[in-house]
Amino acid sequence: MTGTPAAFWEAAGEQIRCTLCPHLCRLAEGQAGLCGVRQVVDGQLTTRADGWLVAAHATPIETKPFYHFAPGGRAFSFGAPGCTMSCSFCQNWQVSQLPKGGGGPPPVARSPEALVAAAVESGCVALAATFTEPTLLAEYWLRLAPLAAAAGLALLWKTNGFTSPAVVAALSPHLAGVNIDLKAWAPARWQALGAAREPVLAATAAYAAAGLHVELTTVFDPQQWADEREFAGLSAWILEHLGPDVPWHLNRWHPDYLAADGVPVNAETLRAGREAARAAGHRYVYTDADEAGRTTLCPACGAAVLRRGERGVLEDRRRGGRCVCGQALPIVAA
Ligand code: SF4
Repeated sequence: MTGTPAAFWEAAGEQIRCTLCPHLCRLAEGQAGLCGVRQVVDGQLTTRADGWLVAAHATPIETKPFYHFAPGGRAFSFGAPGCTMSCSFCQNWQVSQLPKGGGGPPPVARSPEALVAAAVESGCVALAATFTEPTLLAEYWLRLAPLAAAAGLALLWKTNGFTSPAVVAALSPHLAGVNIDLKAWAPARWQALGAAREPVLAATAAYAAAGLHVELTTVFDPQQWADEREFAGLSAWILEHLGPDVPWHLNRWHPDYLAADGVPVNAETLRAGREAARAAGHRYVYTDADEAGRTTLCPACGAAVLRRGERGVLEDRRRGGRCVCGQALPIVAA
């Protein structure tokens, strides 16, 4: 990984302030930011995420997860080493923490042209930055976007949402959809994850206001969510700011990285979380525990409209984008 000039920074006296994420790292010559990806070299901010990618391959779009965007389509998925957060339970820590010694596979240089060509060749409908934090790919994204648009590929992010408002505004025109990790509710919990709640909520609302397709993911850790007020707080925020139709994925927590001695979440706990969210008013709540948890139910008649397995759509019973009962469904076509 070699560094290239970065955008999204400003002078701060003798130092440089990176403005890509809300950490706003103030860096002297030679210093790297908290992400370990952006570093001041010869008086200029550089990035080591620009085109150095890991795990570039085609996969069902449902595995990202995007359940309400181009069901049955494939997304060419990739990530760059590094993250702006530091979750103890990170499931991709070998690459998210690679710049800080994570020990994952070495990234491979891929030009935007090569990436688009590979996605088209493999029959994908989208390019999806995932596995790690796509905010760190901002410079690459600005070059990738026009090529992807010309090839008819939608652009998607699986993001932690810890992104500066200016960067959200700059990148939103180049995105079709985002799946945002809402990992916690209490501010102290966000702090423990190496982030802060308000910038993530602001970015989430900004993506929605910009007209992007938005889905949400919450890694369901019963220890974290044992206090019902926590879950209720997050649920109420989603309902107030995004409405009841935004897909909300409650994914299973399992031991990993610095939390390797934790207790994995069982399917029953996930089902209970799903029912609690549905009872609160969320219409499209999903869990990755079983097929029932991955199924889209019609909010009008209760029919199973879209059944999904672990690797994508099993059955699509929609007619013209609607349930057979006539109910419109908030699902974006390919
Ligand atoms: S992206 Fe965030 S963590 Fe990395 S250098 Fe910039 S402000 Fe710091």
